Amino acid sequence: MTQIGFIGLGMMGTPMAHLLHAAGHELVVQDARPEVAALFTDAHPGARIAGTTADYAACDVLITMLPNSDIVDAVVGPLASQLKRGAVVVEMSSADPNRTRALAEHLAESGITLIDAPVSGGVKKAVAGTLAIMVGGDIPAFERVRPVLETMGKAITHVGPVGAGHALKALNNYVSAAALIATAEAIHVGEAFGIDPATIVDVIQASTGRNNTTENKAHQFMLNGTFNSGFSLALQAKDVGIAASLGRAMGLPMALAQDVYAMTAQASESLGAGADHTELYRFVGRS
Ligand code: NAD
Repeated sequence: MTQIGFIGLGMMGTPMAHLLHAAGHELVVQDARPEVAALFTDAHPGARIAGTTADYAACDVLITMLPNSDIVDAVVGPLASQLKRGAVVVEMSSADPNRTRALAEHLAESGITLIDAPVSGGVKKAVAGTLAIMVGGDIPAFERVRPVLETMGKAITHVGPVGAGHALKALNNYVSAAALIATAEAIHVGEAFGIDPATIVDVIQASTGRNNTTENKAHQFMLNGTFNSGFSLALQAKDVGIAASLGRAMGLPMALAQDVYAMTAQASESLGAGADHTELYRFVGRS
């Protein structure tokens, strides 16, 4: 059993923390929405809401599952003086790799190791404990927390130094977003030509254009109009923006990534804060 701090009980964080509790770990949780944290502790005997600095002082591992680097920095930065020396911070949000490196350096001054361990697979795999986890950072620290990560994920890969997990996660989400937009465009154009949308998806899925959208999103969340995958358009636009910035910083302009970012950001602004990323399908259809 490990004493774990868990910050960010949203669409992903709640099922991930649930699995940690089910595996017998002692949990101290925190969320900006007090009612969400209270709901979690009510349903998970022994789990406590972080109230005092002593709560984190006892934690061996602190996991964060927060929206973005601004929030991660604001929440984790001040904890440098509260966490014990030797603690490992596992930053599982999708965040900016350069800012992750800066935060890791800041924590290292207090003897705390940060590894980044963003996830892929969405709410469905978070619930099942089968997320893909890509890890950047110190290998001994990774090995120490590996059993904790194995509670939440299946394909767990160390991909490089600290920040590398976040870099790869952003690049993955860029590829995924590009495929989603291409699929949405193909469905709308095919439909305008008189082909049934379900047939379009099934034939692409059986052909060389198959991708995660044809397999797991088009029928499930788009064609049926439910648009409730659990991954927001705003978070997707953030991820593609990180990938596009990374390309510029590496001297590779990534022309397609700039376009995908412009489209996801524009759609997010137009559809509003609550929009699911699968709503890009209807945005593409009307633009
Ligand atoms: P979410 O918006 O559902 O959850 C974020 C949680 O963080 C919320 O409960 C919110 O109240 C809390 N929060 C915000 N500011 C806070 C603060 N200052 N202090 C404490 N808590 C705070 O988001 P999510 O979908 O669970 O995604 C979390 C992270 O995982 C994001 O970085 C996202 O890009 C990434 N991600 C999401 C999915 C998905 O399918 N939803 C998949 C993979 C990765």
